[in-house]
Amino acid sequence: MLNKLIFDDSILSFHRISRGQNNNNSVNSSLNSLTINKKDFEKQIVTLKKYFNIIDLNKILNSKLNSKKRNIVLTFDDGYKDNLTNALPILRKYKVPATIYITTRFLQNKCNIWWYEIEKFISKNSQLKFKFLDKSYSFSLKSKKNKKRCFEILSSLFKELNYNQQNNLLRKITKKGNRTQYKKELLSKQDLIFLNKNYLITIGAHTHNHISLTCLNNKDSILELKKSKKILENLLKKKVYHFAYPYGSKKDATLRESNLVKKVKFKSAVTTQIQFHKIKNKFLIPRLHINSKDQGIILLLKLSWFYKLYQIIKEKF
Ligand SMILES: [Zn+2]
Repeated sequence: MLNKLIFDDSILSFHRISRGQNNNNSVNSSLNSLTINKKDFEKQIVTLKKYFNIIDLNKILNSKLNSKKRNIVLTFDDGYKDNLTNALPILRKYKVPATIYITTRFLQNKCNIWWYEIEKFISKNSQLKFKFLDKSYSFSLKSKKNKKRCFEILSSLFKELNYNQQNNLLRKITKKGNRTQYKKELLSKQDLIFLNKNYLITIGAHTHNHISLTCLNNKDSILELKKSKKILENLLKKKVYHFAYPYGSKKDATLRESNLVKKVKFKSAVTTQIQFHKIKNKFLIPRLHINSKDQGIILLLKLSWFYKLYQIIKEKF
């Protein structure tokens, strides 16, 4: 009873599960928070299993659930290799299901990832100057604080660009024509076929190019959505019904995008927004981002009404 008063059903978002200790020297804390070490992840699963039912995404969408415990759904974004090598053994050990949302460009050997490439550039250099779309940018990168700030400014810039613009900007920043490839870090087609055979895993789409749909007109947004859906369906030989918005904030996923997702026949779409309601619109489902610091009582607090209230108040004022 108390459980039902404090908690609500929640969908959790993860990205990467690492083998060793996290490298917290990254110039950006939001990149650090993408990775959880597998021991910490296992502890989180143990805590979650104790207080919640960890169920499949399809179940939370389709049925009227009536259980003593609240329900939790686990999701992973982008399609990192460690979802297979480090997360899957833990998911299997505790028999907990998860959904993995794939950026399909990565399956076609186009494995450039702007956030890792700019992070590397910023960490290795002491200054950055470039001109982009008639605007001049100049950053001193001498201190850790400078580097963090630069990463944040560039990230907001990248999130508002389409794929070609992102690559142009990377060329201006790095002064290199070739993009760094992160193939080893990402799931391959074979990996995905293997994961798909596991009854615990559901595969969803995450656009083809990992672009915020708000940067694209309706036609190009539909192309991004359809392409990622089709590539996955052809590879897995089954329908793909679930979608996650890249970045997923209030800026990246609005009613317009949700209507487009519906139009291309997805059945659900998750954001990264924190909301009071659980699922009001199946195409704008709220999610909670979980990082390695969320353990024990902190993890439980994050899943309670108190945290939602705190976040919503913080956003308003
Ligand atoms: Zn993503």
